[in-house]
Formats: sequence, structure tokens, C-alpha cells
Amino acid sequence: MKGEKFVPAYKKLSDKEFKDKIEQARSLLESCRLCPRKCGVNRLAGETGACRSGAQLKISSAGPHFGEEPELVGIGGSGTIFMTNCNLRCVFCQNFEISQLGEGYECSVESAAKIMLALQERGCHNINLVTPTHFMPQLLEAIYLASKQGLELPIVYNCGGYESVEALKILDGVIDIYMPDFKYGDNLAGARYSGVPDYFDRAKEAIKEMHRQVGDLEVDEFGIAKRGLIIRHLVLPNDIANTEKVLKFIAEEISPNSYVNVMDQYRPTFRAYLYPEINRRITRDEYYKALMIADRLLQRRPHRRGL
Ligand code: SF4
Repeated sequence: MKGEKFVPAYKKLSDKEFKDKIEQARSLLESCRLCPRKCGVNRLAGETGACRSGAQLKISSAGPHFGEEPELVGIGGSGTIFMTNCNLRCVFCQNFEISQLGEGYECSVESAAKIMLALQERGCHNINLVTPTHFMPQLLEAIYLASKQGLELPIVYNCGGYESVEALKILDGVIDIYMPDFKYGDNLAGARYSGVPDYFDRAKEAIKEMHRQVGDLEVDEFGIAKRGLIIRHLVLPNDIANTEKVLKFIAEEISPNSYVNVMDQYRPTFRAYLYPEINRRITRDEYYKALMIADRLLQRRPHRRGL
């Protein structure tokens, strides 16, 4: 990677291969099974499922972002596009106005492609699709259109980790950087706090598939991420996230060289006040304990922020 000219994965697809992928992705919307919820609604006809999203792409904002991992930010920022709505229902969502309350505006795939090109023009290092899962087919089409008009930045698939392997396989050869959350180390926590019965099971198989496609994180000579997997794990109060189980799975089943961002910024927002066990920030000790587990299990030093 160091010294080589970077070519994003999607630039290596033929026109036909790319179009076939768009068609396959759109077919998942007909009886929607874009994510493991498998709502079965006809999104193309405007029906909506658990993510409250229809056929039309909806975004809340876009622009260079300097608060992401340093390997994504560099000097030009990460070119983030925040999608409206979400396939999860996290009671503590830090972006709940966007993910749960539907803040945002409808956007054509042509406009989304223009946004991607504008972010490239502004010097961003990547196109960072935030919460893309429920709009994957529309975003795939936007990447196709932008690529035809000169987009050559890597795409970051910045998702909640509750993903369908069937949908991810369509993205093989398009996405260079996967950045899933790995929220919990058991299904019960996912059911109680994110409204899905099988978060841990689905996240395990999804993140394995992501790693199969892109491998461990690789950076260029300037330390900028070009390809690979970045996993985010938010430490929750009272070890509700089951940090050790998550990190053990990553070390043993994904790769001990995984790039893991162990995050300390949890604060009780949205409906977290209804759950006493998560209705506070984490303590310094809780965060250090999580870091020590990561240091013990992973070969690569986990990304961390000071309390
Ligand atoms: S993307 Fe939305 S409609 Fe489709 S299966 Fe997931 S939650 Fe249901």
C-alpha cells in the first residue's frame, strides 16, 4: 500500500458488473431483506418497514468531518454523508434526531452522486456513508454515477453492525473500508437496547464477511486509511456491552490485528433515562478496564481517547 497509487475497489469493476450489482441490490427492496429484520415490505412501491424508509434516499447532512478516526480524517477531513433513519432502535442513540425522528430531506441518487463529487473537490480523503444499511441500493447507484463522473475516493461503509450477509456480498468489490459498530456481546442486550433479537449473532457473521472482503486496515505513507476493517466498540455503563466477549470474538474469529476503536463517549441521551443501568456516563475505571482487555487480546494497540 505504501507508495503505490491507490485505486478504489469500485474502479476495477466493469460497467456490466456494477450495473448487475445495482440490479441485485434493488431486487432486495421489493420484499425488503436489506437487513436481518427482513420486513418483507415492498420498498420500491413506497411501503416502509422498521427503518421507516421507502424507495427514496433520505439524508440529513453532508460535509467534511474532523471528529472521526485520525486515519479517516487526515488533513482534508472525512467526507461524511449522514443518512436519515436507521434499521436499529438504540434507546441511547447519540444521533436520535436523525436516526429515530426522521430529520432530513429526500435526495435523488443523482444529487447524492453530486454530493460525493463535491466532497472530493473539497479535499476529503474518503466518502463516509453514515448509517447506509437501509439505503444501500440507492447509495450503490450514487457511487456508480459519481464514479462515472470522476470519483476516485475510497468508500467507507459506516454502519451499525446489524447487517445481512446477502446484502454485503453485493458490496464485495465496491467498498474499500468497512467501519461497523460492534455494540454488544450478547443477543439479550441487543433486544433490550436496540430492538432486535439477534444482534450478536448477526454482527458476528456480518463482520466476518466484511473482513473476508477487505482484510485488516491498511494505510498509505501519510497514515490515511485506504482499505480494510475498522471496528467501533462503545463502552457502556455496567459492562452492558459485554466488552470482553466482543473483543475476544474479534481477536479469535476476525483477526488479532484488527483496528478497534474502544470508545468512551457514551452519554445517556434519547430514551436512556428509562433504563437505570445505562442512565449515566461510564467511569474512568470502566473505560480503563475495557482498554486493558483490548491490550491483552489484540496485537494492534486499540484506538483510544482519554477520559
Ligand atoms: S432495511 Fe428497513 S425495511 Fe428493509 S428489512 Fe431492514 S428494517 Fe426492514
